[in-house]
Parts: sequence; C-alpha cells; structure tokens
Amino acid sequence: MEYQKRTVTCGGLSAADAGKSVVLNGWVHRRRDHGGIAFINLRDRYGVTQVVVDDDASEALKATAAELKFEFCVAISGRVRTRPEAMVNKDMATGAVEVVADAIQILSRCETLPFMVDEKSDAKEDLRLTYRYLDLRSFSMQRKLRLRHEVAFAVREYLTGSGFYEIETPTFIKSTPEGARDYLVPSRLYPGKFYALPQSPQLYKQILMVSGFDKYFQLARCYRDEDARGDRQPEFTQIDIEMSFVKRDDVLELVEGMMGHVFDKTLGVKLPATFRRIAYDDSLELYGTDKPDLRFGMEMVDIGELALRSGFTAFKDALSEGAARQAAAAARGITQDGGAVKALLVPGKADYSRKQIEELEAAAKIYKAKGMAWMKVGATGALEGGASKFFIPAAGAAGGAADGAAAGADAKLAADLIAKLGAKPGDLILMVADAKRRIANVSLGAVRTKLGKDLGFCDPARYEFAWIVDFPMFEWNEEENKWDTAHHMFTMPQEKYHPSLESDPGAVKGDLYDLVLNGFELASGSIRIHDPELQKRIFAIVGFDPKDAEQKFGFLTEAFKYGPPPHGGIAPGLDRLVMLMAGETSIKEVIAFPKNSFAVGPMDDSPNYVDEKQLKELHIRIVETPKA
Ligand code: ASP
Repeated sequence: MEYQKRTVTCGGLSAADAGKSVVLNGWVHRRRDHGGIAFINLRDRYGVTQVVVDDDASEALKATAAELKFEFCVAISGRVRTRPEAMVNKDMATGAVEVVADAIQILSRCETLPFMVDEKSDAKEDLRLTYRYLDLRSFSMQRKLRLRHEVAFAVREYLTGSGFYEIETPTFIKSTPEGARDYLVPSRLYPGKFYALPQSPQLYKQILMVSGFDKYFQLARCYRDEDARGDRQPEFTQIDIEMSFVKRDDVLELVEGMMGHVFDKTLGVKLPATFRRIAYDDSLELYGTDKPDLRFGMEMVDIGELALRSGFTAFKDALSEGAARQAAAAARGITQDGGAVKALLVPGKADYSRKQIEELEAAAKIYKAKGMAWMKVGATGALEGGASKFFIPAAGAAGGAADGAAAGADAKLAADLIAKLGAKPGDLILMVADAKRRIANVSLGAVRTKLGKDLGFCDPARYEFAWIVDFPMFEWNEEENKWDTAHHMFTMPQEKYHPSLESDPGAVKGDLYDLVLNGFELASGSIRIHDPELQKRIFAIVGFDPKDAEQKFGFLTEAFKYGPPPHGGIAPGLDRLVMLMAGETSIKEVIAFPKNSFAVGPMDDSPNYVDEKQLKELHIRIVETPKA
C-alpha cells in the first residue's frame, strides 16, 4: 500500500490549525493509555505532536494503535483540535493542540531498543556509538548537528562575503608537515607506493597562493594518526584559511569578524569586535598555559624576590639552581630561563581542607612540580599555617626565623607578600617553586585550571576569546638534543630575529598566533616563509636534511621559485568550535559518526581486516598474523 505522505511536520502545528485535516509522519516517541484513549507522541526532526486515538475510534484503528511500540515509524492522519485549557502543555511547542487520529499506517517496526530515545541518551559511549543512528535521534544530538550545519553555513557565508573562494585540495597526497603520523593508502597501480592522507592542506593552500588565489578557504577534513589520547579523532575538520599580501593583523581581524558573524548568526551571541592579544610569555607567566581559560582571573604572581627574603630554603635553592643553569646557558650564548617561585591567590578559600589542598597539589605534580606549598590569611590578616612560618620572623628575634625556618624572614615580608598578592583575610595562598621557570608556571597553571572548574567559574555560556601571539619559533627537544620548530617549518620568524636565527634560536619569536577560547586552542596559524633562502636556514636549524626536505616538500620549494607572494593563514577547528558553542566537552558530541576513544568505529567495526584478494591487488603481505 502506498504510504500517506506528511502534510505537516511534528513541530509545526499550533492553535491556529484547529479543525484542519493533516497527515503526520514520524516515530512513536512515547505512548500511554488512559481508559479507552491512547495518547501517542509522534516525533520527527522538527518536534513532537500529541496524537489521540479516542474512545469512539473504530476497532481497527484501536487495534493498530495498540500495536505501536517505541520508535515504530508511522503515518497518522487526523484532525487538529485544541486541547482543553487544563491539558495545554506549555513546555511543548505544539502543546496547545492534538491530532485526533482517523487512520494509522505502520511504515516500519522497531525492535526492542538498546536505550531510550530521549533528550539525551544516557547509555555508555560505545553503546551509543554502536547504535549511533538511534543516538542521533535524541533531541540533543539533533540540536548539535543542526548547530554544526549552521556554523559551517555561517562560515561559508562570511568568507564568501569577504571575497574568499572555497577550493578543494586533494586528500590523496604525498605528506604534510604537521608533525603527526600520516594515514597511508597503498597504491594498486604502483606497487610499494603509498598516498598519504593530509594532516592538513597546508602545502596545497600555500601553493594556491603562488597561483594567485589570494583568499582561499576550505572546510577541510584532516587525518592524523596519533595515539588515542584525550579527545582526539583520527579525522577532524578544519576551517582552513590562507591569504596573500597580508600581515599578521589582517588574518586576526578576518577571524575576529568571522567568529563574530558565526556567533551572532547561530547563537545570537555578540562577541567583542576584537579579541585580547596576549604574548605567549605573558600567558605562561599569568596562567601557566598557552591556552588560558579567561572566564576567570586568578592570575599567578611571581614572588621570587619575596621568597629570597624568606626562610624557605627549598624556594631559595630552586632559585639559585635556576640562576646557575641560566648563567651556564648564557655562557654558551643561549637564552634560557632561570627558576621561579609563583603564587596563586584563591579568594575566600582559607577553609580548604588538607585533603582539598592535596588534590590541588596532585594536579601540580602531574606537570612535574616537586610539591606545592600553601598558607592562609587568618581573620586578623596574619599569615597562618603551612609555609607561613618561613615568611614570619620568630617572635622576639627581629629578622630571625620561626621554628624550623633555616634563615630569617624580615619583619616586613609578610605584609609585602600580602600587598603583592592583594590577599585578604580568609584567602588561601598556593605556591610552587622550581629551578625551571616553565615547570613552576605550568604546574601552578594546572592548579589554576582545576580551581576554575572546582569553583564553578567555567560557565559554558560565556565565550572568552583571546589571541596568543609571539610564540617561540623553536623548541628544544630534550630527548633528541636538538631544536624543533614549535609550529610547522614554513612559519616566518619575526623579522627582527632574522640576523640571529642560528646564533640564538631559543630567543627567536615566530610570526605565529593561536586563537584560544575558554581554555581550548581553537586555531593555529602563521605568516609563512616565502623566501627559499630563509626556508633553507630554518631546515638547517632543525637539522632537516636538505635531501629529505627536497624529497618531502620539494614541490613546495620548487613552486616558491616562481614568484610566491607574501602570505599567511590559519585553521580554526570546526569540531572544537561547535563543541564549545554547544556547551559540550567532547568533539564526539558534535560529529555524526565519530570513532571511540580507541580510534574504533563501533557501528561499522572499522578498522577491519580485508580479504586476501584485496591485499594481493595492493601488493601487501601481512607479516604479523592478525588475531582472529
Ligand atoms: N596547517 C596548520 C594546522 O593544521 C594551520 C595553519 O598554519 O594554517 O595547524
């Protein structure tokens, strides 16, 4: 029998439609029976409509209604009527009406559900992903994928309006320089050869600039074969952007405008016209990370000078050890940080228990802090408990030490520290010292991040963007004892460092920028090198063999022989952006068919074995016998 096609959706009816005859198509969301009357909530993408099979309905209709189970797909025809005042459901968009059924057609049946389709499936992740099609029926997944669509649309709208072309670059390529492992695709036609899937369209978008395309973008799928860790997906989507004849600020302004448009269009949220710009070094000093959550302040304070006046040997030792390391490096002409003592003021939390403080200390230790000291500001405004004794002179011994303190704290020290931190009675002070400034910063920064969450400062409906700029160009690779580039190798070092690239790589800042939002890195980008000679110097500093460079990226350097324009770009992550806009904490929540945390697709069971014939065609022999 031909099925009755819908005349309205399940989200469209209101009191104004009373009296109309309609056909609805959808899924049985809920059903309940009341005396002889059956109530069926019918659901589709647009909403839910209540259908009633009245007491006086035909026996055949009643029998069909009785057959309906959760998630049966049905067509129902009937007449719209307003509900009695007392039955109006204000929480439902269609809550003022119901449809009195005159026919029900079962379009398909549904087996016993592995979990209920509801606002949100509360099933375990792997079960949700195995039955992703059911999970996607939930209202929350429907909303999130709609938001994803709207964000992508707004991006295209803004960039198109700004003169950009969307150009597709290949997904079967040679290799990309993003530093992860490539996913490889064996070539059937060329035995032993492989295509790589792009880790990003980086080289192709740069070549498009050589081609004169000026303003390019692409919602690009990228593939990175990284160990399953954190919230990673083997494939993800970037809003990939590249522009010619631009300086850093042109790229930043474009992205500010684009984000403003996207947030306004999709969430009705007005973002500031420009975002804060924070130098990388300042971000580390203040927040202990290059992706600070700026929904709360709690900036870290350097109390090194004050620590030197205290009786705290551990602090003083860290500083002198750091100073010695720094001096030794300077003697070799290398810029390196010394030690630091950093403090974090936690307002009103002097009542934190030992256990709570230990939990915070554990967060610091993950980032290699040897320990975390604390003290409190008592009701009288005096330092109390924990390490306070090292900051207070012993009674009667001016300039002397309290019990256990090795050397004397001076009489003004406690007051100076309190003033420096702006501490008040009832506050908690946390401190980390290390001979490596970075460790002190990063580990206390982790404590700050944890506190932000614990204290409820991370309102998901607030969006605090910032640019982190002036990144170091190179990072010292301790394991391999060599310099690496901090971003990819095509990043332009800032002009003023060009003369000293080789002599002091540690001091060089790149023309690099990251966009951060609520503690997440949302985008990375840079102005690129377009001068082949400069490119060669960078390869040499990171020990990248010119032959290797030629083999891997020769086609880019070749293209750069033909009048490359100055250019730069950026690539905001679409998944992460939508995740944050949806108030979620995992990108899996905004991807229709993500892999699980082990890079496995529980629904289609990928990756999987292929048959012998296919392997043979691809000239591949499996050496390790796969487990059955
Ligand atoms: N290709 C870079 C990345 O994927 C982004 C860029 O520099 O434009 O991180």
